[in-house]
Amino acid sequence: MSEKYDVVIIGAGPAGYVAAIKAAQLGLNTACVEQWLDGKGKTLLGGTCLIVGCIPSKALLDSSYKFAEARDQLGVHGISVEATKIDVPAMLARKDKIIKQLTGGVAALFKHNGVTTIAGTGKVIAGAKVEVTDKDGNVQVIEADNIIVAAGSVPVDIPPAPLDNEYIIDSTGALELTEVPARLGVIGAGVIGLELGSVWNRLGSDVVVLEALEEFLPMVDAQIAKETAKILKKQGLDIRLGARVTNAKVVDGAVEVSFSTADGEHVETVDKLIVAVGRRPRSEELFTSDSGLTLDERGYIYVNDFCETEAPHVYAIGDIVRGPMLAHKGSEEGIMVVERIAGKAAQMNYDCIPSVIYTHPEVAAVGKTEQELKADGIDYKTGVFPFAASGRALASNEPEGMVKLLAHAETDRILGCHIVGPSAADLVQQAVIAMEFGSSAEDLALTVFAHPTFSEALHEAALAVDGHAIHIANRKKRK
Ligand code: FAD
Ligand code: NAD
Repeated sequence: MSEKYDVVIIGAGPAGYVAAIKAAQLGLNTACVEQWLDGKGKTLLGGTCLIVGCIPSKALLDSSYKFAEARDQLGVHGISVEATKIDVPAMLARKDKIIKQLTGGVAALFKHNGVTTIAGTGKVIAGAKVEVTDKDGNVQVIEADNIIVAAGSVPVDIPPAPLDNEYIIDSTGALELTEVPARLGVIGAGVIGLELGSVWNRLGSDVVVLEALEEFLPMVDAQIAKETAKILKKQGLDIRLGARVTNAKVVDGAVEVSFSTADGEHVETVDKLIVAVGRRPRSEELFTSDSGLTLDERGYIYVNDFCETEAPHVYAIGDIVRGPMLAHKGSEEGIMVVERIAGKAAQMNYDCIPSVIYTHPEVAAVGKTEQELKADGIDYKTGVFPFAASGRALASNEPEGMVKLLAHAETDRILGCHIVGPSAADLVQQAVIAMEFGSSAEDLALTVFAHPTFSEALHEAALAVDGHAIHIANRKKRK
């Protein structure tokens, strides 16, 4: 039996590694168990987010956007670029360098803060202990006063399109394509499908996205989703809604994808097929039946609002528990949990978690959508401002999209902010801060925004809530 820790964390993704660093900062003797190995058998810290998720996808999104901008959009500024070319291996190498830098950065932070890394696969066993099996099959049992499970998630696969990791791939494979496929199929018009579909579309692939649902981005405010669909279609993404994939098979070095829609049966032939139909919690082999942990009806580890499982002193955070599968959600849960372990009165505001789809322009949101407010029977007011009326957006040749603010009809409290447009990810954060402080739309309207900035669109949307927008004609009667 090794030394006893104050906290042992299973998983070094953004939920687990942030919890580990924070725990150590709070003076807790902390260890983190991680199973991910690089090609040389060395432990990699950072999880899905740093290795095959947020960061590599954003690296490719940025590279591909710069390519598409140089090819298609600089002409309007009077700049001509002859024969834009993409060197895909160089693009991938840049992404890999960033991953190396960031995963190495987590290792350095662990060292700096005194977090012990334990290489191997962890399992919670009875008595709130962690059994760790290393790559050579050696088993050790770690004792701790507190255990935090942060084992994350993995892609969902579907029987009609089994992965072969060459032609039929998941999001990880889609970050590794060494050449631009002439025709690319994507199953699922969710966040991954739209982001990675955009990467390869910008680089020249003909991209067809097959989405089972009839509605595009149902979790997004309907007005914003409609605008987004229009913009992405213009960019060349061929999004087929109500498309149920029935079969995908490799024939002569290409993938034949069969699917049915209301119009009947169809077949598309593509060079690569990305399956992006969601992620599921990685809960198998993670705890023994006598550990006290349980799964909810969707396979997530059951936790309460404080991320406490049903086993005393065992917590679970991040993608392995309910709530949006977002890196920042898991990190904040990790901080809440270790602060509570350290005796602080921490809690998390689950109503104020922003989400972003990193297409261009970005789609960003926080709080309730208009359709949710309607369904909940809440009286609300809306303020919408189009980027086409923003001086900064026009100067930057980014006139597409809008900011939409939703406020309570009586109290004026901001209930939601939904944006498709330039720098939406950063703009929505301003609404997140306002909402965290319980701000009204009028509070935002009374705030001074620098000119010319994209954020003026948020200011104008706040003004528009009560019909006071300056740079558009107000339809509402002013109070
Ligand atoms: P993970 O990051 O999955 O980490 C879990 C860690 O636990 C892994 O390192 C794993 O090896 C380890 N582990 C699992 N089981 C064990 C075990 N038994 N023993 C030891 N170690 C174990 N989110 C955003 O917020 N913004 C984005 O832009 C974004 N982009 C994404 C793009 C893609 C392509 C993908 C796939 C995901 C993206 N996400 C994004 C989602 C984000 O990556 C996840 O929400 C986030 O990584 C979850 O963090 P986590 O720590 O809970 O789990
Ligand atoms: P998702 O849930 O966003 O989208 C999956 C889509 O696939 C849905 O629209 C769903 O209706 C569709 N679908 C499901 N089964 C299907 C089928 N058989 N045929 C056709 N369509 C089908 O999931 P994702 O895009 O795989 O992403 C997984 C998770 O990762 C998300 O929950 C997201 O939170 C996270 N993520 C976040 C970001 C970000 O924050 N920018 C980026 C990537 C991933």
